[in-house]
Amino acid sequence: MQNLEQFQSLLSTPQRVVITTHHKPDADALGSSLGLAGYLKQRGHEVTVITPTDYPTFLQWMEGNDEVVIFTEPGKRELAAQKVSEATVIFCLDFSSLDRINELGELVRGATQAKKVLIDHHRNPEDFAEFVEWDVEAAATAQLIYRLLCAMGERETITPAMADALYAGIMTDTGSFKHSNTSKEVHLTVAELIDLGANVNEVSQLIYDNSSVDRLKFLGFALSERLKVLPEYNTAYITISAEDLRQYHVKTGDTEGLVNYALSIRGIAFAALITEREDGVKLSLRSVGDFSVSDFASNHFHGGGHKNAAGGRSSMGFKETLDHFESLLSQYKVSLQNTFQFQNAHV
Ligand code: 5GP
Ligand code: MN
Repeated sequence: MQNLEQFQSLLSTPQRVVITTHHKPDADALGSSLGLAGYLKQRGHEVTVITPTDYPTFLQWMEGNDEVVIFTEPGKRELAAQKVSEATVIFCLDFSSLDRINELGELVRGATQAKKVLIDHHRNPEDFAEFVEWDVEAAATAQLIYRLLCAMGERETITPAMADALYAGIMTDTGSFKHSNTSKEVHLTVAELIDLGANVNEVSQLIYDNSSVDRLKFLGFALSERLKVLPEYNTAYITISAEDLRQYHVKTGDTEGLVNYALSIRGIAFAALITEREDGVKLSLRSVGDFSVSDFASNHFHGGGHKNAAGGRSSMGFKETLDHFESLLSQYKVSLQNTFQFQNAHV
């Protein structure tokens, strides 16, 4: 952070803090928010974590979870609006532009009296914050929280519960230390978090071994009935309709990780999960190598994210979106093939 001294001076007196994060928070979004909240509370600030929507049960174990205000839950809009309007500092974690947090983004934008702090690792950040800790090379926002606490000389304030939350964010955003964002700093950071009390086995069980039977049956159905492989484009995608979601009682978070199965097929460089949700068609995109799904998402689906993991949405109907998605592939045929050949050259 460029103006770190000013930031520290802001936090040297008790503030009314709101921490917010993106739509359908994942472990990095929630872990970095609750990890940071743990620190700020220790330093005497009044802290409210507000999420724009609900999140999966396998994330509901983190310290501070019970106090999270979920904007879309009955009666919580008013409380969230009040907390945002009274806030003196608003942290925006794990998202780069305010339109990613729906209605809550407008409230945050309108809270002109509050200092805004953006901590994020997505591409193309919006310029709305006075304080910015942004690094597209960072594997996770949780890694940036750890980095910032160290820069502030506050490493020793990290409790085992905070370390668990931050570890969860790094573990999941690196795909359990497998993705191309898994750097030396990632390993050094988690080593430090382990020193500070993170329980890696427990966190991994809470997140990965916490499925309902329905979820597993849905996974089986999606892979056997809804996976389409297009070898000529090195692409595989899974399509889930609103009816599928209903039939398999799919809950928030149940589709997480599904797209990675498509990407795990030999020869596949580009994978997508296209879901017909209540609020429109959502695309979750993954790639290996140089093919940028962040560019693909921003060029065609009002989205963005990282080079190898991004998302977007479609304003068309479900069927039209699927046709449109397939029709786009021909223009990327060469780069998708090159991506894969380039990958193979290193095997
Ligand atoms: P996921 O596919 O897991 O939902 O998201 C993958 C990555 O892309 C995450 O880092 C997420 O924040 C980002 N992302 C997902 N959907 C969108 C979107 O609609 N817009 C933007 N800008 N980023 C997205
Ligand atoms: Mn993240």
